[in-house]
Amino acid sequence: MIKASNIHKSYGNLEVLKGVDVHILEGEVVSIVGESGAGKSTLLQILGTLDTPTNPSGFNTQIALAGKSFIEMTDRQLSKFRNENIGFVFQFHQLLPEFTALENVLLPTRISGKNEKESLEKAYSLFEDLNIAHRLHHKPNEMSGGEAQRTAVARALINSPKIIFADEPTGNLDSKNADDLHQLFFDLRDKYNQTFVIVTHNTHLADTTDRKLVMKDGQIIY
Ligand code: ADP
Ligand code: ADP
Repeated sequence: MIKASNIHKSYGNLEVLKGVDVHILEGEVVSIVGESGAGKSTLLQILGTLDTPTNPSGFNTQIALAGKSFIEMTDRQLSKFRNENIGFVFQFHQLLPEFTALENVLLPTRISGKNEKESLEKAYSLFEDLNIAHRLHHKPNEMSGGEAQRTAVARALINSPKIIFADEPTGNLDSKNADDLHQLFFDLRDKYNQTFVIVTHNTHLADTTDRKLVMKDGQIIY
């Protein structure tokens, strides 16, 4: 599902990723751990097409998701590919403040022109799974932090992406909501064979994933 080799990233003289290789199979739930500054977020952003590696031709960098290399895609092709294949969950929810929870969650389906009725049904079932069904018509500032975060998770999942990239998804959740979210990831994997890549400081979460990639100083050391 994810096949990347020789990823480099530098900011000026600071070499943040030093030739990283990642192979992740369809349906794997993989965590990325390591101390702050190791390059975890940068790697996730690059794998998720939100950032570009440094000097890809010079280093012969290859990155393919679901069998498609995206290094040479145009911006337009890339946004379409991203909207249909990739879901993102960040530590801070990044919901649009003027939209209700439901409107936020439906946004990706409207961008891809999906059937409205099916999208609504999917949205309702996600709101149920995430214990936020009572918040459908609330705006982000009318919800608790945990509810807004779970709304953002619903938005990441609504288009049934093949791959979900999550950067500290439980960072703002209490332990009950963190465990529920974790369980949901595994349920979705079991049900739909979705692939999850999760940067986390939550050792309990990391230890129960299929594989744990440990990063240090811009490399995967284990
Ligand atoms: P982690 O997620 O493991 O904490 P990051 O990928 O966020 O690590 O950061 C790795 C290194 O890259 C850090 O030293 C960080 O300060 C640096 N870095 C990240 N983004 C930028 C940026 N936009 N400009 C300059 N340095 C950056
Ligand atoms: P969480 O762990 O879900 O972030 P909180 O302790 O922040 O929970 O909130 C508990 C409950 O209080 C929430 O489920 C929500 O119903 C309500 N709540 C919290 N903050 C707000 C807010 N800013 N506006 C409306 N309701 C809120």
